[in-house]
Amino acid sequence: MVSPSEFAQRRQRFLETMGAGVALFASTPVAIRNNDVEHEFRQDSDLFYLTGFDEPDTLLILSNEHPEQRMVLFVRPRDPERETWDGPRAGVDGAKSQYGASAAFPISELGQRLPDFLKDVRRLHYRLGEDRELDDRVLGAIHDVRAKARSGVTAPREIIDPSVIVHEMRLRKTDAEVETMLRACSITREAHLRAMQVARPGRHEYEVEAELLRVFRANGSERPAYGSIVGSGPNATILHYRKNDRLMQDGDLLLLDAGAEYGYYASDVTRTFPVSGRFSDAQRTLYQIVLDAQLAAIDAVRPGATIPGVHAVALEVLVKGLIRVGILEAPLEAALKAETYKPYYMHRTSHWLGMDVHDVGDYHVNKEPRPLEPGFVLTIEPGLYVAPGSKCAPEWHGIGIRIEDDVLVTASGHRVLTDGIPKSVAEVEQILAQRPASG
Ligand code: MG
Ligand code: ZN
Repeated sequence: MVSPSEFAQRRQRFLETMGAGVALFASTPVAIRNNDVEHEFRQDSDLFYLTGFDEPDTLLILSNEHPEQRMVLFVRPRDPERETWDGPRAGVDGAKSQYGASAAFPISELGQRLPDFLKDVRRLHYRLGEDRELDDRVLGAIHDVRAKARSGVTAPREIIDPSVIVHEMRLRKTDAEVETMLRACSITREAHLRAMQVARPGRHEYEVEAELLRVFRANGSERPAYGSIVGSGPNATILHYRKNDRLMQDGDLLLLDAGAEYGYYASDVTRTFPVSGRFSDAQRTLYQIVLDAQLAAIDAVRPGATIPGVHAVALEVLVKGLIRVGILEAPLEAALKAETYKPYYMHRTSHWLGMDVHDVGDYHVNKEPRPLEPGFVLTIEPGLYVAPGSKCAPEWHGIGIRIEDDVLVTASGHRVLTDGIPKSVAEVEQILAQRPASG
Protein backbone atom coordinates (compact mmCIF):
# COMPACT_ATOMS: atom_id res chain seq x y z
CA MET A 1 0.00 0.00 0.00
CA VAL A 2 1.04 3.57 -0.57
CA SER A 3 2.49 5.13 2.60
CA PRO A 4 1.77 8.61 4.00
CA SER A 5 5.32 9.64 3.08
CA GLU A 6 4.71 8.64 -0.55
CA PHE A 7 1.56 10.79 -0.63
CA ALA A 8 3.69 13.66 0.72
CA GLN A 9 6.35 13.04 -1.93
CA ARG A 10 3.69 13.17 -4.62
CA ARG A 11 2.47 16.56 -3.42
CA GLN A 12 6.04 17.80 -3.25
CA ARG A 13 6.73 16.69 -6.82
CA PHE A 14 3.46 18.14 -8.02
CA LEU A 15 4.29 21.51 -6.45
CA GLU A 16 7.79 21.50 -7.93
CA THR A 17 6.44 20.73 -11.39
CA MET A 18 3.57 23.20 -11.14
CA GLY A 19 5.72 26.21 -10.35
CA ALA A 20 3.91 29.44 -9.51
CA GLY A 21 0.26 29.34 -8.56
CA VAL A 22 -2.42 27.58 -6.60
CA ALA A 23 -4.03 24.24 -7.50
CA LEU A 24 -7.48 22.99 -6.55
CA PHE A 25 -8.57 19.33 -6.55
CA ALA A 26 -12.10 18.22 -5.68
CA SER A 27 -13.65 14.98 -4.50
CA THR A 28 -16.11 13.09 -6.67
CA PRO A 29 -19.59 14.56 -6.17
CA VAL A 30 -21.96 12.24 -4.31
CA ALA A 31 -24.39 10.77 -6.84
CA ILE A 32 -27.97 9.86 -6.07
CA ARG A 33 -28.97 6.39 -7.19
CA ASN A 34 -32.69 6.74 -6.51
CA ASN A 35 -34.79 8.67 -3.99
CA ASP A 36 -32.59 9.00 -0.88
CA VAL A 37 -30.13 6.23 -1.78
CA GLU A 38 -26.67 7.29 -2.85
CA HIS A 39 -24.32 5.48 -5.21
CA GLU A 40 -21.35 3.99 -3.43
CA PHE A 41 -18.81 6.77 -3.00
CA ARG A 42 -15.35 6.34 -4.46
CA GLN A 43 -12.85 9.14 -4.16
CA ASP A 44 -11.66 10.98 -7.24
CA SER A 45 -8.44 9.26 -8.34
CA ASP A 46 -6.37 12.47 -8.59
CA LEU A 47 -7.43 13.68 -5.14
CA PHE A 48 -6.76 10.28 -3.64
CA TYR A 49 -3.40 10.07 -5.43
CA LEU A 50 -2.30 13.31 -3.76
CA THR A 51 -3.75 12.72 -0.29
CA GLY A 52 -5.01 9.20 0.43
CA PHE A 53 -8.12 10.98 1.71
CA ASP A 54 -11.31 9.07 0.88
CA GLU A 55 -14.16 11.25 2.16
CA PRO A 56 -16.70 13.11 0.02
CA ASP A 57 -17.21 16.90 0.14
CA THR A 58 -13.48 17.57 0.05
CA LEU A 59 -11.43 20.24 -1.65
CA LEU A 60 -7.64 20.14 -1.70
CA ILE A 61 -5.55 23.27 -2.24
CA LEU A 62 -1.86 22.91 -3.06
CA SER A 63 -0.11 26.23 -3.13
CA ASN A 64 3.26 27.66 -3.99
CA GLU A 65 1.98 31.12 -3.03
CA HIS A 66 1.17 30.54 0.63
CA PRO A 67 4.36 29.29 2.36
CA GLU A 68 2.49 28.56 5.62
CA GLN A 69 -0.35 26.81 3.84
CA ARG A 70 1.14 24.64 1.13
CA MET A 71 -1.56 22.00 1.61
CA VAL A 72 -5.05 22.98 2.69
CA LEU A 73 -8.01 20.63 3.03
CA PHE A 74 -11.64 21.66 3.18
CA VAL A 75 -13.48 18.69 4.67
CA ARG A 76 -16.70 17.59 6.33
CA PRO A 77 -16.32 18.59 9.99
CA ARG A 78 -16.72 16.15 12.86
CA ASP A 79 -20.40 15.76 13.69
CA PRO A 80 -21.36 13.15 16.33
CA GLU A 81 -24.96 13.07 15.13
CA ARG A 82 -24.07 12.51 11.44
CA GLU A 83 -21.24 10.14 12.32
CA THR A 84 -23.73 7.94 14.18
CA TRP A 85 -25.43 7.42 10.82
CA ASP A 86 -22.61 7.55 8.31
CA GLY A 87 -19.49 6.55 10.21
CA PRO A 88 -16.45 8.44 11.47
CA ARG A 89 -14.94 11.43 9.72
CA ALA A 90 -11.37 12.67 9.94
CA GLY A 91 -12.65 16.20 10.45
CA VAL A 92 -10.56 19.34 10.46
CA ASP A 93 -8.11 18.02 13.07
CA GLY A 94 -7.70 14.66 11.38
CA ALA A 95 -7.07 16.35 8.04
CA LYS A 96 -4.03 17.94 9.66
CA SER A 97 -2.82 15.19 11.98
CA GLN A 98 -3.51 12.17 9.74
CA TYR A 99 -3.28 13.56 6.23
CA GLY A 100 -0.59 16.18 6.53
CA ALA A 101 -2.62 19.31 5.79
CA SER A 102 -0.92 22.50 6.97
CA ALA A 103 -4.36 24.01 7.46
CA ALA A 104 -7.90 22.61 7.32
CA PHE A 105 -11.38 24.09 7.37
CA PRO A 106 -14.96 22.86 7.26
CA ILE A 107 -16.18 22.56 3.67
CA SER A 108 -19.07 24.91 4.59
CA GLU A 109 -16.49 27.74 4.81
CA LEU A 110 -15.25 27.23 1.27
CA GLY A 111 -17.29 30.05 -0.29
CA GLN A 112 -16.11 32.53 2.30
CA ARG A 113 -12.43 31.48 2.35
CA LEU A 114 -11.66 30.53 -1.24
CA PRO A 115 -11.23 34.12 -2.51
CA ASP A 116 -8.42 34.62 0.03
CA PHE A 117 -6.48 31.79 -1.58
CA LEU A 118 -6.85 33.35 -5.03
CA LYS A 119 -5.78 36.90 -4.15
CA ASP A 120 -2.66 38.05 -6.00
CA VAL A 121 -2.30 34.58 -7.54
CA ARG A 122 -1.58 34.83 -11.23
CA ARG A 123 -2.09 31.18 -12.16
CA LEU A 124 -4.96 29.07 -10.93
CA HIS A 125 -4.53 25.35 -11.63
CA TYR A 126 -8.04 23.93 -11.77
CA ARG A 127 -9.70 21.43 -14.09
CA LEU A 128 -12.82 23.14 -15.41
CA GLY A 129 -15.75 21.15 -16.73
CA GLU A 130 -15.80 18.15 -14.38
CA ASP A 131 -18.22 19.50 -11.77
CA ARG A 132 -20.38 22.44 -12.87
CA GLU A 133 -21.44 23.31 -9.36
CA LEU A 134 -17.85 23.61 -8.20
CA ASP A 135 -16.92 25.47 -11.41
CA ASP A 136 -19.53 28.04 -10.40
CA ARG A 137 -18.05 28.44 -6.93
CA VAL A 138 -14.52 28.78 -8.25
CA LEU A 139 -15.55 31.32 -10.89
CA GLY A 140 -17.57 33.10 -8.20
CA ALA A 141 -14.46 33.31 -6.01
CA ILE A 142 -12.47 34.77 -8.91
CA HIS A 143 -15.24 37.30 -9.41
CA ASP A 144 -15.09 38.23 -5.71
CA VAL A 145 -11.35 38.87 -5.99
CA ARG A 146 -11.80 40.97 -9.13
CA ALA A 147 -14.39 43.07 -7.32
CA LYS A 148 -11.64 44.12 -4.90
CA ALA A 149 -9.30 45.32 -7.66
CA ARG A 150 -9.46 48.92 -6.47
CA SER A 151 -7.98 47.91 -3.12
CA GLY A 152 -4.93 46.70 -5.05
CA VAL A 153 -5.45 42.92 -5.15
CA THR A 154 -5.31 41.05 -8.44
CA ALA A 155 -7.29 38.01 -9.53
CA PRO A 156 -5.92 34.97 -11.42
CA ARG A 157 -5.14 35.76 -15.06
CA GLU A 158 -4.77 32.15 -16.19
CA ILE A 159 -6.65 28.95 -15.45
CA ILE A 160 -4.60 25.84 -16.19
CA ASP A 161 -5.54 22.14 -15.97
CA PRO A 162 -3.41 20.61 -13.16
CA SER A 163 -4.35 17.06 -14.09
CA VAL A 164 -1.85 17.19 -16.94
CA ILE A 165 0.92 17.08 -14.33
CA VAL A 166 -0.81 14.57 -12.05
CA HIS A 167 -1.66 12.22 -14.92
CA GLU A 168 1.95 12.17 -16.09
CA MET A 169 2.93 11.25 -12.54
CA ARG A 170 0.24 8.55 -12.33
CA LEU A 171 1.44 6.95 -15.58
CA ARG A 172 4.79 6.05 -14.00
CA LYS A 173 4.20 3.54 -11.23
CA THR A 174 6.44 3.43 -8.17
CA ASP A 175 7.41 0.20 -6.44
CA ALA A 176 4.65 0.70 -3.85
CA GLU A 177 2.10 1.15 -6.63
CA VAL A 178 3.30 -1.97 -8.44
CA GLU A 179 3.06 -3.91 -5.16
CA THR A 180 -0.52 -2.72 -4.71
CA MET A 181 -1.40 -3.64 -8.29
CA LEU A 182 0.15 -7.08 -7.77
CA ARG A 183 -2.17 -7.55 -4.81
CA ALA A 184 -5.19 -6.57 -6.93
CA CYS A 185 -4.01 -8.99 -9.61
CA SER A 186 -3.56 -11.87 -7.20
CA ILE A 187 -7.10 -11.38 -5.86
CA THR A 188 -8.32 -11.38 -9.45
CA ARG A 189 -6.38 -14.59 -10.08
CA GLU A 190 -8.18 -16.28 -7.14
CA ALA A 191 -11.52 -15.08 -8.46
CA HIS A 192 -10.96 -16.34 -12.02
CA LEU A 193 -9.76 -19.71 -10.73
CA ARG A 194 -12.88 -19.94 -8.61
CA ALA A 195 -15.08 -18.94 -11.55
CA MET A 196 -13.67 -21.85 -13.54
CA GLN A 197 -14.82 -24.14 -10.74
CA VAL A 198 -18.42 -22.92 -10.63
CA ALA A 199 -19.23 -22.22 -14.29
CA ARG A 200 -21.04 -25.08 -15.93
CA PRO A 201 -24.04 -25.87 -18.11
CA GLY A 202 -27.29 -25.37 -16.20
CA ARG A 203 -25.99 -22.45 -14.14
CA HIS A 204 -26.58 -18.79 -14.83
CA GLU A 205 -23.95 -16.24 -15.74
CA TYR A 206 -24.85 -14.28 -12.59
CA GLU A 207 -23.92 -17.23 -10.41
CA VAL A 208 -20.39 -16.90 -11.78
CA GLU A 209 -20.49 -13.12 -11.30
CA ALA A 210 -21.56 -13.60 -7.68
CA GLU A 211 -18.59 -15.90 -7.10
CA LEU A 212 -16.17 -13.39 -8.64
CA LEU A 213 -17.50 -10.61 -6.41
CA ARG A 214 -17.42 -12.83 -3.36
CA VAL A 215 -13.77 -13.72 -3.89
CA PHE A 216 -12.84 -10.06 -4.52
CA ARG A 217 -14.46 -8.94 -1.29
CA ALA A 218 -13.37 -11.94 0.76
CA ASN A 219 -9.77 -11.01 -0.06
CA GLY A 220 -10.02 -7.37 0.95
CA SER A 221 -10.77 -5.80 -2.43
CA GLU A 222 -12.94 -2.72 -1.84
CA ARG A 223 -14.90 -3.21 -5.05
CA PRO A 224 -14.56 -4.49 -8.59
CA ALA A 225 -12.44 -2.17 -10.73
CA TYR A 226 -15.29 -2.07 -13.30
CA GLY A 227 -18.55 -3.85 -14.05
CA SER A 228 -17.87 -7.55 -14.59
CA ILE A 229 -18.65 -9.04 -18.00
CA VAL A 230 -19.81 -12.64 -17.78
CA GLY A 231 -20.85 -13.57 -21.31
CA SER A 232 -21.63 -17.13 -22.35
CA GLY A 233 -22.29 -18.49 -25.83
CA PRO A 234 -23.32 -15.71 -28.21
CA ASN A 235 -23.14 -13.14 -25.37
CA ALA A 236 -19.35 -13.49 -25.56
CA THR A 237 -19.49 -11.66 -28.87
CA ILE A 238 -21.13 -8.58 -27.27
CA LEU A 239 -18.24 -6.35 -26.20
CA HIS A 240 -19.89 -4.58 -23.26
CA TYR A 241 -22.36 -7.29 -22.26
CA ARG A 242 -23.49 -6.61 -18.68
CA LYS A 243 -26.79 -8.37 -18.07
CA ASN A 244 -25.05 -11.59 -17.04
CA ASP A 245 -28.36 -13.45 -16.78
CA ARG A 246 -28.21 -16.22 -19.38
CA LEU A 247 -28.46 -19.89 -18.52
CA MET A 248 -25.20 -21.47 -19.66
CA GLN A 249 -25.44 -24.40 -22.01
CA ASP A 250 -23.36 -27.35 -23.01
CA GLY A 251 -20.94 -26.27 -25.72
CA ASP A 252 -20.78 -22.59 -24.63
CA LEU A 253 -17.63 -20.62 -24.27
CA LEU A 254 -17.74 -18.28 -21.28
CA LEU A 255 -15.96 -14.93 -21.54
CA LEU A 256 -15.10 -13.43 -18.14
CA ASP A 257 -13.79 -9.87 -18.02
CA ALA A 258 -13.47 -9.03 -14.33
CA GLY A 259 -10.85 -7.44 -12.10
CA ALA A 260 -10.57 -6.47 -8.46
CA GLU A 261 -9.72 -3.00 -7.23
CA TYR A 262 -7.39 -2.97 -4.26
CA GLY A 263 -6.09 0.10 -2.41
CA TYR A 264 -7.48 2.26 -5.24
CA TYR A 265 -5.60 0.33 -7.94
CA ALA A 266 -7.27 -1.68 -10.68
CA SER A 267 -6.64 -5.04 -12.26
CA ASP A 268 -8.27 -5.98 -15.56
CA VAL A 269 -8.33 -9.59 -16.69
CA THR A 270 -10.25 -11.55 -19.31
CA ARG A 271 -10.33 -15.30 -19.71
CA THR A 272 -12.47 -17.42 -22.02
CA PHE A 273 -13.12 -21.12 -21.44
CA PRO A 274 -15.61 -23.86 -22.36
CA VAL A 275 -18.21 -24.26 -19.59
CA SER A 276 -18.49 -27.99 -20.15
CA GLY A 277 -14.74 -28.50 -19.99
CA ARG A 278 -13.54 -29.04 -23.56
CA PHE A 279 -13.19 -26.68 -26.49
CA SER A 280 -14.96 -27.68 -29.71
CA ASP A 281 -12.66 -27.85 -32.76
CA ALA A 282 -13.84 -24.47 -34.03
CA GLN A 283 -13.51 -22.86 -30.57
CA ARG A 284 -10.06 -24.32 -30.06
CA THR A 285 -8.88 -23.10 -33.46
CA LEU A 286 -9.97 -19.49 -32.84
CA TYR A 287 -8.85 -19.59 -29.21
CA GLN A 288 -5.33 -20.61 -30.23
CA ILE A 289 -5.19 -17.74 -32.72
CA VAL A 290 -6.14 -15.22 -30.02
CA LEU A 291 -3.69 -16.74 -27.56
CA ASP A 292 -0.85 -16.66 -30.11
CA ALA A 293 -1.67 -13.02 -30.82
CA GLN A 294 -1.70 -12.20 -27.13
CA LEU A 295 1.62 -13.94 -26.42
CA ALA A 296 3.27 -12.24 -29.40
CA ALA A 297 1.96 -8.83 -28.27
CA ILE A 298 3.14 -9.36 -24.69
CA ASP A 299 6.52 -10.34 -26.05
CA ALA A 300 6.70 -7.04 -27.93
CA VAL A 301 6.30 -4.98 -24.73
CA ARG A 302 9.56 -3.26 -23.80
CA PRO A 303 10.87 0.27 -23.36
CA GLY A 304 10.67 2.14 -26.66
CA ALA A 305 7.84 0.01 -28.09
CA THR A 306 4.49 1.75 -28.60
CA ILE A 307 0.86 0.76 -28.05
CA PRO A 308 0.07 0.95 -31.79
CA GLY A 309 3.21 -1.13 -32.45
CA VAL A 310 2.08 -3.78 -29.96
CA HIS A 311 -1.42 -3.67 -31.50
CA ALA A 312 0.10 -4.25 -34.96
CA VAL A 313 1.89 -7.36 -33.68
CA ALA A 314 -1.36 -8.78 -32.28
CA LEU A 315 -3.31 -7.81 -35.36
CA GLU A 316 -0.93 -9.52 -37.75
CA VAL A 317 -1.19 -12.82 -35.86
CA LEU A 318 -4.99 -12.55 -35.71
CA VAL A 319 -5.39 -11.75 -39.41
CA LYS A 320 -2.93 -14.44 -40.50
CA GLY A 321 -4.93 -16.91 -38.42
CA LEU A 322 -8.25 -15.78 -39.86
CA ILE A 323 -6.84 -16.17 -43.39
CA ARG A 324 -5.48 -19.62 -42.56
CA VAL A 325 -8.90 -20.87 -41.44
CA GLY A 326 -10.72 -19.25 -44.36
CA ILE A 327 -12.62 -16.55 -42.47
CA LEU A 328 -10.69 -13.80 -44.29
CA GLU A 329 -9.26 -13.71 -47.78
CA ALA A 330 -5.52 -13.53 -48.49
CA PRO A 331 -3.23 -11.71 -48.94
CA LEU A 332 -2.34 -10.43 -45.49
CA GLU A 333 -1.38 -6.92 -46.63
CA ALA A 334 -4.66 -6.39 -48.45
CA ALA A 335 -6.69 -7.65 -45.46
CA LEU A 336 -4.83 -5.30 -43.12
CA LYS A 337 -5.16 -2.36 -45.49
CA ALA A 338 -8.87 -2.85 -46.17
CA GLU A 339 -9.48 -3.73 -42.51
CA THR A 340 -11.53 -6.77 -43.48
CA TYR A 341 -10.89 -8.08 -39.94
CA LYS A 342 -12.96 -5.28 -38.38
CA PRO A 343 -16.20 -7.33 -38.09
CA TYR A 344 -14.24 -9.81 -35.92
CA TYR A 345 -11.75 -7.58 -34.11
CA MET A 346 -13.00 -4.06 -33.62
CA HIS A 347 -11.21 -2.80 -30.52
CA ARG A 348 -7.68 -1.84 -29.60
CA THR A 349 -5.26 -4.22 -27.95
CA SER A 350 -4.17 -2.06 -25.00
CA HIS A 351 -5.01 0.72 -22.60
CA TRP A 352 -3.16 2.18 -19.64
CA LEU A 353 -4.00 0.64 -16.29
CA GLY A 354 -3.61 2.12 -12.82
CA MET A 355 -5.97 3.77 -10.36
CA ASP A 356 -8.58 3.86 -13.14
CA VAL A 357 -9.18 0.81 -15.27
CA HIS A 358 -8.83 2.95 -18.39
CA ASP A 359 -6.10 4.91 -16.75
CA VAL A 360 -4.98 8.46 -17.38
CA GLY A 361 -1.86 9.50 -19.25
CA ASP A 362 -1.43 10.73 -22.80
CA TYR A 363 -1.27 8.06 -25.50
CA HIS A 364 0.47 10.43 -27.88
CA VAL A 365 3.28 12.90 -27.45
CA ASN A 366 3.55 15.57 -30.13
CA LYS A 367 1.02 13.59 -32.19
CA GLU A 368 3.34 10.57 -32.20
CA PRO A 369 2.55 7.28 -30.39
CA ARG A 370 4.20 7.44 -27.02
CA PRO A 371 7.21 5.17 -26.46
CA LEU A 372 6.72 2.84 -23.50
CA GLU A 373 8.87 3.50 -20.43
CA PRO A 374 9.68 1.40 -17.37
CA GLY A 375 6.87 1.86 -14.83
CA PHE A 376 4.04 2.09 -17.37
CA VAL A 377 1.32 -0.56 -16.97
CA LEU A 378 -0.87 -1.56 -19.90
CA THR A 379 -3.30 -4.31 -20.78
CA ILE A 380 -2.80 -6.74 -23.65
CA GLU A 381 -6.21 -7.95 -24.73
CA PRO A 382 -6.71 -9.19 -28.27
CA GLY A 383 -9.94 -11.01 -29.11
CA LEU A 384 -12.07 -12.43 -31.89
CA TYR A 385 -15.83 -12.02 -31.97
CA VAL A 386 -17.91 -13.86 -34.56
CA ALA A 387 -21.45 -12.62 -34.02
CA PRO A 388 -24.33 -14.89 -34.99
CA GLY A 389 -25.18 -14.13 -38.62
CA SER A 390 -21.63 -13.10 -39.58
CA LYS A 391 -20.50 -13.40 -43.20
CA CYS A 392 -18.13 -16.32 -42.58
CA ALA A 393 -19.05 -20.04 -42.45
CA PRO A 394 -21.67 -20.95 -39.82
CA GLU A 395 -19.27 -23.19 -37.88
CA TRP A 396 -17.64 -20.04 -36.41
CA HIS A 397 -20.84 -18.20 -35.51
CA GLY A 398 -21.45 -17.24 -31.89
CA ILE A 399 -17.83 -17.69 -30.82
CA GLY A 400 -16.42 -14.80 -28.79
CA ILE A 401 -12.94 -14.90 -27.27
CA ARG A 402 -10.76 -12.38 -25.47
CA ILE A 403 -7.63 -13.01 -23.43
CA GLU A 404 -6.41 -10.09 -21.33
CA ASP A 405 -3.44 -9.65 -19.01
CA ASP A 406 -1.88 -6.69 -17.21
CA VAL A 407 1.72 -5.95 -18.14
CA LEU A 408 4.32 -3.75 -16.44
CA VAL A 409 7.06 -2.29 -18.62
CA THR A 410 10.44 -2.92 -16.98
CA ALA A 411 13.95 -1.77 -17.84
CA SER A 412 14.71 -5.10 -19.48
CA GLY A 413 11.31 -5.72 -21.09
CA HIS A 414 8.16 -6.50 -19.18
CA ARG A 415 6.58 -8.37 -16.32
CA VAL A 416 3.08 -9.91 -16.54
CA LEU A 417 1.36 -8.87 -13.30
CA THR A 418 -1.48 -11.31 -13.87
CA ASP A 419 0.72 -14.36 -14.27
CA GLY A 420 -0.69 -17.68 -13.15
CA ILE A 421 -4.24 -17.35 -14.48
CA PRO A 422 -4.41 -20.35 -16.81
CA LYS A 423 -4.76 -19.61 -20.50
CA SER A 424 -3.16 -22.36 -22.62
CA VAL A 425 -5.69 -24.82 -24.06
CA ALA A 426 -4.05 -27.71 -22.22
CA GLU A 427 -3.95 -25.90 -18.86
CA VAL A 428 -7.53 -24.68 -19.12
CA GLU A 429 -8.91 -28.11 -20.11
CA GLN A 430 -6.90 -29.79 -17.38
CA ILE A 431 -8.24 -27.52 -14.65
CA LEU A 432 -11.78 -27.91 -15.92
CA ALA A 433 -11.40 -31.70 -16.08
CA GLN A 434 -10.42 -31.74 -12.41
CA ARG A 435 -13.51 -29.91 -11.22
CA PRO A 436 -15.63 -31.77 -8.69
CA ALA A 437 -19.02 -32.83 -10.04
CA SER A 438 -20.77 -30.00 -8.15
CA GLY A 439 -18.32 -27.20 -7.52
MG1 MG B 1 -10.99 -5.87 -19.38
ZN1 ZN C 1 -9.09 -3.92 -20.46
